[in-house]
Amino acid sequence: SSNRKEEIKKEAKERNVRFLRLMFTDIDGVIKNVEVPISQLDKVMDNEMAFDGSSIDGFVEIDQSDMKLHPDLDTWLIFPWELESGDSRIARFICDVYMPSGEPFKGDPRSNLKRILKEMEHLGFTEFNLGPEPEFFLFKLDENGNPSKNLNDHGGYFDLAPTDLAENCRRDIVLELEALGFEIEASHHEAAPGQHEIDWKYANAVEACDNIQTFKLIVKTVARKHGLHATFMPKPIENISGSGMHFNMSLFKDGVNAFYDESSADGLSTTTYQFIAGLLDHAQAYTAICNPIINSYKRLTPGFEAPVYVAWSETNRTPLIRVPSSRGQSTRVELRSVDPTANPYLALAVLLKAGMMGISEAKSAPKPINKNIYNMDQFEREENQIQSLPKTIAEALEALKNDETIIDALGQHIFERFVAAREADWRKYSTAVSQYEMDRYFKLY
Ligand code: ADP
Ligand code: GLU
Ligand code: MG
Ligand code: MG
Repeated sequence: SSNRKEEIKKEAKERNVRFLRLMFTDIDGVIKNVEVPISQLDKVMDNEMAFDGSSIDGFVEIDQSDMKLHPDLDTWLIFPWELESGDSRIARFICDVYMPSGEPFKGDPRSNLKRILKEMEHLGFTEFNLGPEPEFFLFKLDENGNPSKNLNDHGGYFDLAPTDLAENCRRDIVLELEALGFEIEASHHEAAPGQHEIDWKYANAVEACDNIQTFKLIVKTVARKHGLHATFMPKPIENISGSGMHFNMSLFKDGVNAFYDESSADGLSTTTYQFIAGLLDHAQAYTAICNPIINSYKRLTPGFEAPVYVAWSETNRTPLIRVPSSRGQSTRVELRSVDPTANPYLALAVLLKAGMMGISEAKSAPKPINKNIYNMDQFEREENQIQSLPKTIAEALEALKNDETIIDALGQHIFERFVAAREADWRKYSTAVSQYEMDRYFKLY
């Protein structure tokens, strides 16, 4: 890795990098960064960069504030934007957060995911792959440059210009991402007006999560240049589709997909069924992590291709889990509940843990539900033993507090901070008087 360090130093010089951003993700899933001049590059690569952890939400108390950032050299990237001062540039590293003692910090979601990946190796797998499908909305900026509530277009699923005014913006986003090394597989207008989706090739767990964080940053930055505001809020507008971030997941053993079994009738291995069983078992609890904000639950309602019921299917898009028809190396399980406000590192840690429990306990999955569950009545759902997902973050948090497996996947530190932050949000929401209430009751009573 001293070779790698030399390469990075050379590239920084050649491309005139002037500033270095050290990025990490807090418990809320928000990217944080410390910017240092490039003169600090050696010190940074020697893991000597200290920062005050007490100023980051959900991190630590003031008495243990001296945290260290360890850059992951594989995440070295030079942003395509030039600084205003000319042809000089900014680069970044994604970092793991360490304690002054040299231990990984227990409140760092990225380090926590690595801990769960070690458990996976003990179970005999070598890779956990994630292909996310993030959706987002583009709104117009007003004359003062502030986000407005006006949608950018009125197109629909797979529409083309001129209805799809965002086409140029989306194309620019794709070009920027490609310049950063993303292998884009698809980019299209989604079902709702102003809604878009961009998909890229799956990667190993940690890299895939890093990519999601980079993706969100690029989308927001490029949208601004087009006079647009990009939002990953799950349900910005009622009565039309919300934005999900489906997680396509697979376990590999030495480069071979462990979900594929040529000799089984449907091409799925026993491992796949066990993984699905684990995901179904712990769905109530991990929903708090995969759908962490109050608004997340306004998306998880019937009629908009978002899941409401805990079931799995080979064809249908209404249940929580779908197994897309591709086989071979592309055999994968798609979890449809996740939304783009989820902290990807935390979401992947809890989902991997849930799936692994299914495998280590050799659970069997219930039969798939290959019909539209939105159209089933309560009796039919009960007959098929189909539970609903939590209806609010408060309900999901209660389930989380009762699931030792999922708590374990977060670690006590993250679990406590996460619950405290989400509960505080819920308390504020519950006591706020909404526009809905004013419209509904103010004159009536
Ligand atoms: P959908 O069928 O839901 O429209 P897409 O084709 O849009 O799915 O997205 C598929 C995603 O799954 C892509 O990100 C792709 O790279 C990813 N993917 C393909 N094979 C695997 C795999 N073995 N493990 C995880 N993700 C995978
Ligand atoms: N927008 C839908 C959701 O909220 C998903 C649509 C799709 O299947 O791509 O999950
Ligand atoms: Mg989609
Ligand atoms: Mg999908």
